[in-house]
Amino acid sequence: MSKTCIKCNRTFEESEVEDPTSQKYPSCPDCWKEWTTYAVMVMNEMRLDMSLPEHRKALRKYEKGFFEKTLGELEKKPENK
Ligand SMILES: [Zn+2]
Repeated sequence: MSKTCIKCNRTFEESEVEDPTSQKYPSCPDCWKEWTTYAVMVMNEMRLDMSLPEHRKALRKYEKGFFEKTLGELEKKPENK
């Protein structure tokens, strides 16, 4: 079955999806990979501890923002290169 990615609007085959978690928001494997990379950055930046419920909740907020494009402060920060 084909689906449309909520993030990039591309169609992708559901059979290409390796991680079922990514279908919480319909996202293509590429965007999901992008999110997982981003999530690591968020976890480092915010010093999130995934064993704490509040921290997991905070990350879910970023996840929602990432896929629904409502992301605020982190994305606006200039990149340090
Ligand atoms: Zn996508």
